[in-house]
Amino acid sequence: MNENMLTSALTRLESAAKHLDISPEVLEKLKFPKEVLSVRLMVRMDDGSRRSFMAWRCRYDDTRGPTKGGIRFHPDASMEEVVTLAFWMTFKCAIMNLPFGGGKGAVKLDPRELSKAELERVSRAYVHAFAGMIGPDRDIPAPDVYTNAMVMGWMADEYSSIVRQSCPAVITGKPIALGGSLGRDDATARGGYYLVRHLESELGLDAGRRRVAIQGYGNAGAHIARLLHADGYKIVAISDSKGGIFCPDGIDPAIALEAKERDGSVVALAGQRGCKAIDNRELLEADCELLVPSALENQITAENAGRIRAGVVLELANGPVSPEADATLQQRRIQVLPDILANAGGVTVSYFEWVQNRQGYYWTLDEVRERLKKTMEEEGRSVWDLARKKRLEMRTAAYVHALGRLAQAIEAHGTQPFFAG
Ligand code: GLU
Repeated sequence: MNENMLTSALTRLESAAKHLDISPEVLEKLKFPKEVLSVRLMVRMDDGSRRSFMAWRCRYDDTRGPTKGGIRFHPDASMEEVVTLAFWMTFKCAIMNLPFGGGKGAVKLDPRELSKAELERVSRAYVHAFAGMIGPDRDIPAPDVYTNAMVMGWMADEYSSIVRQSCPAVITGKPIALGGSLGRDDATARGGYYLVRHLESELGLDAGRRRVAIQGYGNAGAHIARLLHADGYKIVAISDSKGGIFCPDGIDPAIALEAKERDGSVVALAGQRGCKAIDNRELLEADCELLVPSALENQITAENAGRIRAGVVLELANGPVSPEADATLQQRRIQVLPDILANAGGVTVSYFEWVQNRQGYYWTLDEVRERLKKTMEEEGRSVWDLARKKRLEMRTAAYVHALGRLAQAIEAHGTQPFFAG
């Protein structure tokens, strides 16, 4: 992880602030996280031994409501990464006008090295340790990298047993049978998909070739491949943590998913159906019109930004483009649909899940999708229009849009001129 991750994330806040007339108190509030807790979890392994894991949770800012954001299980997780991701969640929730602030959590571990029973114990230990910090009106976790619906189900169950009442609204992304929302599973990809389809002609993706390269074939990557493929986009390159394939004639996403599930990686398809093996670096530089980073942070950097061939980048991952790379992409007129907007479909349907849990009244899949589509299109259009009006690239416009809402909420408590006047 980049040592200066939060510092570089903050540069985007500072550049957005230049386009708004806001009180310095707003930046003072948003420059630092409100609350960060670091815990060492002790967990019993299947062989009888006990192992310890570092775990964190950050509530970055709760001016607009309880904090919201996923929990990731990853061997490279760190406190600084968690804080940065929580900072991004603050803006993501504000862009979508959700009544939430931003939060995030992580456990430093490689889930592939643990048995299912060990993962359940880690998940429950996490909730036990952070039970005072989370809560349906305080901080609401959700899935993130290498966590899934089942993990959320264990966590909701653990929390409910601690507070001695059923409390599904404490966590979103749960299994449907345990109060999860229909449509949460593919919501991150679907939100990005609605955004691309809505802005297709502005992005120049409505005519000519529509070839797509996707980095990462987890929840976000595999679903966006399926959705775009069904609409006639050609998926020419995909990858996962083990490597990738380039398929000039296109690849059926269902076949790729089958290979990943059966053989552990999409690379198993190399040598078949006109596909050849490539590495993750080659994937990012693949000849295509739309590039979809759907894995981890800092994939497109100052080093490789000059070699990206796609005209449009849809950031389904959080933070895949470094701030240094932004300038190069902008110079090269590559349109970046920024993470805090492009992947906000996940947290938007998480909000719908929380609302349904609190109402005890559940929506149909069509209702969920319709509301997601409407929100993505409205907020996507606002960011697009703001970018045109102020001659900004989409990322800065997205930050300006979100910061305007955050500033309004922070300033509503009164600022210096009010008290000194
Ligand atoms: N982990 C997802 C994100 O980064 C979803 C968060 C949520 O649903 O609360 O946006």
